[in-house]
Amino acid sequence: MYKLIYAVIGGWILSHTLWLGIVGTSSDLSKIGNSLFMILGTMLSIGLLTFAIRRHPNRPFTRRLFLLLLFGNTALAIGETAQLIVDTLQLKRVGPFDGIDLVFGMQIGFYLLAFCYFLISRRGHINLRFFLFDELIILIVTGAISWHYLVTPYLEQASLFSFKTLLLLRYPLGDLLLLGGMLILFFGVMKRGNSIPLLMILVGFHLQLFADLLYVALYRADFPVSAMWLDPIWLATVLLIGGAAILFDVDERPLDLKVNRQILDGIRLVTPYIFLLILFVTMARQAVSWNGLTIGLMIAIPLLISRQIRIVMENQRLRENLEAKVEERTAALEQALEEMEHMAYHDALTNLPNRYLFARLFKEELRRAEIHQRFVGLYFIDIDHFKQVNDTYGHQIGDQLIIDIANRLEKRLPHNTVISRQGGDEFVVLLFDVKDESDIEACGQQLIDLFERPFILHATPVFMTASIGGAIYPTHATSRSALIERADVAMYEAKRRGKNQFHVEV
Ligand code: GH3
Ligand code: MG
Repeated sequence: MYKLIYAVIGGWILSHTLWLGIVGTSSDLSKIGNSLFMILGTMLSIGLLTFAIRRHPNRPFTRRLFLLLLFGNTALAIGETAQLIVDTLQLKRVGPFDGIDLVFGMQIGFYLLAFCYFLISRRGHINLRFFLFDELIILIVTGAISWHYLVTPYLEQASLFSFKTLLLLRYPLGDLLLLGGMLILFFGVMKRGNSIPLLMILVGFHLQLFADLLYVALYRADFPVSAMWLDPIWLATVLLIGGAAILFDVDERPLDLKVNRQILDGIRLVTPYIFLLILFVTMARQAVSWNGLTIGLMIAIPLLISRQIRIVMENQRLRENLEAKVEERTAALEQALEEMEHMAYHDALTNLPNRYLFARLFKEELRRAEIHQRFVGLYFIDIDHFKQVNDTYGHQIGDQLIIDIANRLEKRLPHNTVISRQGGDEFVVLLFDVKDESDIEACGQQLIDLFERPFILHATPVFMTASIGGAIYPTHATSRSALIERADVAMYEAKRRGKNQFHVEV
């Protein structure tokens, strides 16, 4: 998907530039061709945005955001079509601030609207106060520099002053506003995924700014190069926006730019300072006289800025360390909690469900049996002469035997059983989802047979037996407690009858 989008955008821009290179910018044919490239390219972007809007039917925020961008592109398409009509009819344009220009201006207007909408809707994720501060710094710096280099010369030469030319500045200034904000936003929100689409939009606005600034410069200087050469750059922004919309959440997988994250965070932090530094350098270049004071200021300000950056970065590092620590602790706590929960419901020696978990599972299975009209078999198993093992081999070997018995039960019994250790040498088995009552008798016998092979204690094979009592739901009882009592009594009956047998009342 990514490659396809890149190829389409790159291919279009390349063909557009090649066309201008081959046909030139002066003939009528070149003008019409250029307009067609612009119109069709913009339509392509509109198509991409429409497709992206339709793909997110349940996400009003994303839809509205894309719609505003789509309006921006539509303004461009209308402007370009008007330009094409003017060119084909060989009409003269009134100037840099006619109706067509107004429509072109609306493109940036809609982009700005989309940006503000994004900002307002996402203010919960963005530290708006810091954002506005950063944005203000960028604006003041760019405003001051633009004023100094672009506006003041006009004001000084009153004869050359042209309000219309001044109005041209709205393009680069609008771009700057957008770009500064985007830059901060991009680095601020990129942790939440969608980095590549945001990066594409950012690159797009950089290109737009570059082209708009060049346009103003060309216009001012009456440069002999046609502004048409800038069209592919403007178009690139439009196409990048369309491409970004398509790639937005394309596979719901946040892009892993972890390695670069620190660098990106750094860039976000230093952006306002860089703008401040630009202002400072510009001012230094204009310094009228160099004396102790100016030199002192020239040294002190960069020092102050670098000190500030270091403090901010240090804070960031501290915060990151803290976050990592909190994350680590939380994970450890979660794991401990999980272990504790496991411990609360499992037998420590055999890791089998303990009597509490068994009671819960028993209850659930009885309910299911009632709904699906099934039998349930309950078996009480007590190992015969277990004390002797303890007395002969020691408590530790006795423990090992209990574990071995549990393992054998788990390994050999069918999957529709719940095995639990009730304590001591007593196990309970639940056979659920039984269609045929005779299966319960068969399973009781299977349990006895499990003890046919000897257990290896201290490298010695030892034959063990068990007395097993059974109870059947619903034949003997329907309640849990009554079934348990039945199985218990049956187990004692098995003991009484000479052990090593399965007993179930008939
Ligand atoms: P019976 O044939 O009548 O079942 O007699 P028994 O020797 O098996 O004794 P009974 O079932 O009455 O008691 C179980 C014995 O198991 C009591 C205790 O000494 C021993 N026991 C209980 N819990 C543990 C344990 O966790 N580890 C070990 N090694 N022994 C235990
Ligand atoms: Mg016993």
